[in-house]
Amino acid sequence: MDYRVVSIVRDHARLRGASPAVSGDGRTFSYAELDERSSRLAQGLRAAGAGAGSRVAYVGKNAPEFFDLLFGAAKLGAVTAPVNWRLTPAEIVAVVEDAGAALTVVDAEFAGLAAALPGQVVLTGDDYENWLAGHPAEDPGFVGAPDDIVVQLYTSGTTGVPKGVQLSNTNFSVGERMAERWRLDATSVSLVPMPLFHIGGTGWALAGLFAGCRQVLVRDIDPAALVDTFERERISNAFIVPAVLQFMCEVPGAAGRDYSALRAITYGASPITSEVLRRALETFGAPLFQLYGMTETTGAIVQLEPEDHDPQGPRRRLMRSAGRPYAWVEVRIADPAGEGEVPAGEVGEVLVRSPQNTPGYWNRPAETARLLPGGGWLRTGDAGYLDEEGYLFLTDRIKDMIVTGAENVYPIEVEEVLAAHPAVADVAVIGVPDERWGETVKAVVVPRPGTAPTEAELLEYARERLAGFKRPRSVDLVDALPRNPSGKILKKDLRAPYWAGRGRSIG
Ligand code: ATP
Ligand code: MG
Repeated sequence: MDYRVVSIVRDHARLRGASPAVSGDGRTFSYAELDERSSRLAQGLRAAGAGAGSRVAYVGKNAPEFFDLLFGAAKLGAVTAPVNWRLTPAEIVAVVEDAGAALTVVDAEFAGLAAALPGQVVLTGDDYENWLAGHPAEDPGFVGAPDDIVVQLYTSGTTGVPKGVQLSNTNFSVGERMAERWRLDATSVSLVPMPLFHIGGTGWALAGLFAGCRQVLVRDIDPAALVDTFERERISNAFIVPAVLQFMCEVPGAAGRDYSALRAITYGASPITSEVLRRALETFGAPLFQLYGMTETTGAIVQLEPEDHDPQGPRRRLMRSAGRPYAWVEVRIADPAGEGEVPAGEVGEVLVRSPQNTPGYWNRPAETARLLPGGGWLRTGDAGYLDEEGYLFLTDRIKDMIVTGAENVYPIEVEEVLAAHPAVADVAVIGVPDERWGETVKAVVVPRPGTAPTEAELLEYARERLAGFKRPRSVDLVDALPRNPSGKILKKDLRAPYWAGRGRSIG
């Protein structure tokens, strides 16, 4: 499709200039204002020596300035690379250097970083506003080609170091159909709680901007404050990761609030237990959509519809599914041992062919070659199966699979069972070394406040519900699980102390 991300701001400025586009930090900018600010920013970038193909970086929390930069850069043909502000200062500097950024916009909250960054730095606040005002509001008018890269987004770093993923105009060209599938239109009020340095933030916000609605940007995630925001801002659509959804359901009184404006809650990016789904349905009383995808596929490629979320219905098994691929997406399950495909119902690696597939990673040719084996296919690194109706069931990441004796155990299945225990607030299952079996199954459990489950009780509970080889052999009780900013449990960190000094064959 002949589509350009930059058209979003140019078109809406003409069609609905006075309509609000982004709200954050107590300010709201209309589409006309966003258009003007991004044009001034483009001129500022040009004055700093940037042009088509240059990289510009953003180090900051969710704030309207990010969209000035994204569209301003696109108006010149430059590429925006938002950086994870949760990294250490040295890591942030390394990412900005790796991107070769000509200019970096830095959130005033991280002013201390400015001196260490290469290239020109502009701090948000008065400096930034003065800098914008100092440049003409004339759109440089760059259009570019469908294959031009627009953003460089980093993966979550769940399994290793975050990788910079190149995403083009074409990768985003299904935005209109996507927005429709998520029930976003120009009258929506869309909540953007996920960080803009991830596809769950930027991809979701771009779909809402595509639809022409207002984005409510969330600077810091606080479950109780999010519940308030839903009511106060009359949120109609939101993308929320399972971990945050779970914490929101636990906010006292969350179920009794006014969600009358809510059309749908969209969730995804990590596995969800049936228990959390059931509570979310009860708390919000709104349709739920699940999305499965990754940074490398510009976000969602598979979707589970609200009618497939029926905990009592005859098709309740679908609540364990991630849904079905979009019409423009092909999913194939590859035999992990060879090249071929496996039949319906059998587990293998999930492969994807879609216009959303990235052309590759930034500066990582070996990893790009592994990701894109040819024929237009992309290897997700996720294990799963397709059923007869084409629903995708994810079993787990291949790197998290536990090999015990000759059996493969997918931690998600064990987590699903333990999550239903009344004293379990949160759970992760990992493989730990074992002399006899190679690995054995261990559960790491966060008890629900006011409960004191014992290891023996949890092991017994699992024994009654799981096949012998899948049963945890030990349980650790902890206060919290390590998570990254996308809410994903860092299993590599959980595993590390047990595997110190030994190699693990997977991951
Ligand atoms: P890294 O690649 O750096 O290790 P990451 O894979 O977590 O990090 P992302 O691109 O943000 O980085 O996440 C994509 C991954 O998230 C998928 O490969 C999959 O494992 C997981 N995921 C996404 N959606 C779902 C879902 N609906 N259910 C289960 N897992 C999901
Ligand atoms: Mg990944």
